[in-house]
Amino acid sequence: MTRDPRYDILFKPLKIGPVTTKNRFFQVPHCTGMGFIRPRMLAEMRGMKAEGGWGVVCTEYNSIHPSSEDLKHVSSSLWDDSDIRASRLMTDKVHAHGALAGAELWYGGSRSANMMTREVALDLDSLPNAVGHPFQTRAMDKSDIRDLRRWHRKAALRAKEAEFDIVYVYATHGYLLANFLDPVRNTRGDEYGGSMENRTRLIRELIEETKDAVGDRCAVAVRFAADEQAGEDGKPITGERRDMFEMMAHMPDLWDINIANYDVEMGVSRFTKEGALEPYMDFVKSVTDKPVVTVGRFTSPDTMVSQIKRGVTDLIGAARPSIADPFLPAKIEAGDVNAIRECIGCNICYSGDSISVPIRCTQNPTMGEEWRKGWHPEKMNPKGGDGRVLVVGGGPAGLEAARALGKRGYDVILAEASRQVGGRVLREASLPGMSEYIRVKNYREQQLSEMPNVEIFLESFLSAQDVHAVGADHVVIATGANWRAERFNGNEYTPVVTNSSGVDVFTPDDIMDGKLPNGPTMIYDEDGYYLGGVIAEKIRHLGHDVTYATPADAVSKWTENTSESWRVRSHLMTLGIKIVLSKSLQSFDGQTAMLACEFSGQTSEVNVENIVMVTQRRTNDTLYQALLEGADRDPGKLPFTLARIGDCDAPAIIAAAIYSGHRYARELDVPVDVDEPLRHDRTDVGETKDGEYLQNA
Ligand code: ADP
Ligand code: SF4
Repeated sequence: MTRDPRYDILFKPLKIGPVTTKNRFFQVPHCTGMGFIRPRMLAEMRGMKAEGGWGVVCTEYNSIHPSSEDLKHVSSSLWDDSDIRASRLMTDKVHAHGALAGAELWYGGSRSANMMTREVALDLDSLPNAVGHPFQTRAMDKSDIRDLRRWHRKAALRAKEAEFDIVYVYATHGYLLANFLDPVRNTRGDEYGGSMENRTRLIRELIEETKDAVGDRCAVAVRFAADEQAGEDGKPITGERRDMFEMMAHMPDLWDINIANYDVEMGVSRFTKEGALEPYMDFVKSVTDKPVVTVGRFTSPDTMVSQIKRGVTDLIGAARPSIADPFLPAKIEAGDVNAIRECIGCNICYSGDSISVPIRCTQNPTMGEEWRKGWHPEKMNPKGGDGRVLVVGGGPAGLEAARALGKRGYDVILAEASRQVGGRVLREASLPGMSEYIRVKNYREQQLSEMPNVEIFLESFLSAQDVHAVGADHVVIATGANWRAERFNGNEYTPVVTNSSGVDVFTPDDIMDGKLPNGPTMIYDEDGYYLGGVIAEKIRHLGHDVTYATPADAVSKWTENTSESWRVRSHLMTLGIKIVLSKSLQSFDGQTAMLACEFSGQTSEVNVENIVMVTQRRTNDTLYQALLEGADRDPGKLPFTLARIGDCDAPAIIAAAIYSGHRYARELDVPVDVDEPLRHDRTDVGETKDGEYLQNA
């Protein structure tokens, strides 16, 4: 296959100051949970994107000085020469594939409390920490501003020495430089506050000084917000932004434009669709003749082409689409657009940064595993034998196992009980806002359709006897899990209705099966991720009075990690759903739900006629257990190898099911040292002698 000429424009080189990108695919800076803590994992992951065709591959936010540090959120750093060595790991790998490497220089200001370095954070005033730590910043005086400019310059020089091609001045996302620009927040009485000219002074100085330091060889980019503050979706509040932009339009070599509202800029697909920044971008290209990049969770090459042709942007910026499919550009280039693994907009990737663990992705199970497991997103290890594999269950785990096994060259039979593959994603994608989750199924179904060695049997519920009758050499059970009607009270699963009452409760499976409540309904959420809120919305749309109750202190508490909790809560409030926090459900008699406060134990009543229990799940491992039972619980007595994967093994997020299916496929017939299953990226103390370090590794 060859490239569709319609997409030629995406492969047109573009000059950015002193450098030229080979195409328009631009991986904008994005966090990874790796940064300065896990540089080898990071370098391999970024290199993979370059291999997949991205013309520019950037770092995450790159701290310029120890007084800007964000742990537990892991940034990169350019504090000293050892950081140059770590960065070189990445730039070498990026350059090896003809891509440009970009470094985003960052100073956090009031967003970073510096709890690792214990340095006092600097900002324009003595501001409270913006993310809730009980710390304030020091108001910068003239000497602090001089220090900051020097640190920025030194970091830029280190970036150049580390062979970066693009160096960013980062002036958005509520960090220090954004505060200087802010007409409300910046109340300084000196030449850095007051008029627009004064508020832009520091950024202008940094652009000039960065160009002076590295501009002979590196392009200087500015990351800037096109709107003034978080507004309603699609309704830009530009204020004086356009004037500011006009003032600086010709200064840098590249503009990386985003918006103040994180929830739209990197909104989950439940609320934000592809190309959502376009309304905010309308003035940008008319004001500057410098190249412009922006994001929009672009996965469709047609949308990308349209954005460039209509003059919205010059470069297709992407974080998530490059995570879900590092080979997205290569696939468009090869005319293999159907094979793109489209991002579903779940933001599980972002949770790595929130929790301080390496990045992972729902769609791409190899993300973050490039170095420590040697996994490649497009290449599988060839099969190690001729055996046939039976996969039972066509949910995310079973589909990914079948796809990856098929790619290894195995003959695979996939048996699915229902009329369609997809399992939980098929069901969840029909809930409000969740339609893009179907991409988990679509990508794998499409890939399987091109594999003559994989056969799919639908409406094929298999018993243990059926499994034996297939005569496979390897059997993997991916039969998922079902939602429970009980709750976990901290010690055990317990029902909230008495058996004799004749009262029943609903589960999420009931709702997804179309068995719906009638009348006032409580959604009781102990799961804490997205499903409770989504089901509350679904029932509310049916016209019923809905109360959302949870023992957690926030709505959909875990969505704090995927940067959507504020959005979820405001959405439920807008829908008129009542919210009850920090209360656990004790009992339900069909008319009254009895709740107990998590702190005082005090009970209270809510009058509802139905309850949907969004609590925990029970593994559907009946088939697995039956097969083991038939062999006296000794797998060695079975005529095939037996394994279980995904929710059938341990219920978890979709990303975990995909990972588990992929891992099964990779490791079938490969000896794995279960005692040391992966490489550990961490600071190595090197050789020691008599308690002394011999080298500074
Ligand atoms: P996971 O997330 O682990 O992939 P899912 O619950 O999404 O799990 O999918 C499990 C799939 O297994 C469902 O599509 C279900 O219909 C199917 N299934 C369950 N039991 C059997 C069985 N005995 N034979 C065939 N398919 C089964
Ligand atoms: Fe997209 Fe989800 Fe993967 Fe992030 S984790 S890149 S949002 S599919």
